Amino acid sequence: MIDLDVTIIGGGIVGCATAAAVAGAGHKVVLLEREPRLAMGVTSRNSEVVHGGMYYPTGTLKARCCVRGRRMLKAFCKESGVGYNECGKLIVAVDPDEESALTTLRDRGEANDVEGLTLIGRSELRRLEPEVEASAALMSPATGILDGEGATRAYAELATERGAQVLTGATVTGLEPADGGWRVTVDRGDDEGWVHNSRRVVNCAGLHADTVAVMAGLDDPDATQRWVKGNYFSVAPRHAGRVSRLVYPVPPAGTDTLGVHVCLDLQGQLRLGPDFEPGDRVEDYAVDPARGADFHAGARRFLPFLESEDLEPAFSGLRPKIDTDEPFADFQVRRETGDLEGLINLVGIDSPGLTSSPALAEIVAGLIDDREVAW
Ligand SMILES: Cc1cc2nc3c(=O)[nH]c(=O)nc-3n(C[C@H](O)[C@H](O)[C@H](O)COP(=O)(O)OP(=O)(O)OC[C@H]3O[C@@H](n4cnc5c(N)ncnc54)[C@H](O)[C@@H]3O)c2cc1C
Repeated sequence: MIDLDVTIIGGGIVGCATAAAVAGAGHKVVLLEREPRLAMGVTSRNSEVVHGGMYYPTGTLKARCCVRGRRMLKAFCKESGVGYNECGKLIVAVDPDEESALTTLRDRGEANDVEGLTLIGRSELRRLEPEVEASAALMSPATGILDGEGATRAYAELATERGAQVLTGATVTGLEPADGGWRVTVDRGDDEGWVHNSRRVVNCAGLHADTVAVMAGLDDPDATQRWVKGNYFSVAPRHAGRVSRLVYPVPPAGTDTLGVHVCLDLQGQLRLGPDFEPGDRVEDYAVDPARGADFHAGARRFLPFLESEDLEPAFSGLRPKIDTDEPFADFQVRRETGDLEGLINLVGIDSPGLTSSPALAEIVAGLIDDREVAW
């Protein structure tokens, strides 16, 4: 017997946005999050930047979902009263030989439909950001910052209003095909728990998405994730307000990262990060203070006022990246077939996953109703 239409595993921003979209389409939905609160996974350990969309190869899911998701997220945050600041971003060429990379990013961004990208020279840069030292920059006015946990909670509230059940402290420990759907085993600790049947299962388990997919029977090495740590350092509060936009370097060649950048939070405090620290699959969020020297050297190239004693280890996050030797790995939204019919796996949802979340949710809602999204 089928008890539910759709079970969503994972209460990060992607799972919660998906629950809202799928419940909005009239399905009976439960969302299961193993932690005691929503948004305790990757969603709470990142830069909270709503990306423009100029970094990703044209036509990829990352490019399409980033641009679409940003527009949806901006409207949603406004409607729901979630913190959002379209502060804009500058990608800076510190040396003139980095300037051609700005043109490449501008052209790619325009091909990806990113709004308002403008190349500016040193004097315009000085006027906009007097404290930033660089020879030229690419300005992205549509890039911003948001309260990612607030947006996650707001999507969960919307899902609940639309009739979904959102349960925390509920770990999915078993997934087996049954009766044209899935038998889902849920553990609530202390021997509590249950088994229910669900026509569809959507796996939005973040760092553990590949493990959950294997638990359901997926055997595909191309869906394996590795975890790459990104560390952050806070900048002394006395420097708050010295920069009013996000400032990024030209992305380091040959990596799938954006380079150590200056983030702002919604209170205007400055932060540097994230770097790129490959490691084992261990949930270790400690930040090694010795990494501060590299952060200082990297950021001082374009922020000359920074002294090494201005930096303090802050926090870190783990990126769930598809384990490949390719320099670029796209998001995977997999509608499984055959023995795994009815299972949708979202794997490799690293950056810009926060920005892309409502667009990913729209794709999943379309797959559930056998409908392709029209964008
Ligand atoms: C350092 C860093 C910087 C980033 N910066 C940005 C940025 O500036 N902009 C941007 O757009 N993106 C950024 N990202 C990416 C973004 O944070 C993620 O793509 C996004 O938060 C992923 O959300 P999620 O819901 O898929 O995963 P998560 O938030 O991790 O949610 C998955 C949830 O599944 C739960 N779960 C796992 N297994 C089970 C189970 N068996 N049963 C029940 N629940 C389970 C987990 O507890 C977790 O809460 C960054 C990421 C990192 C690491």
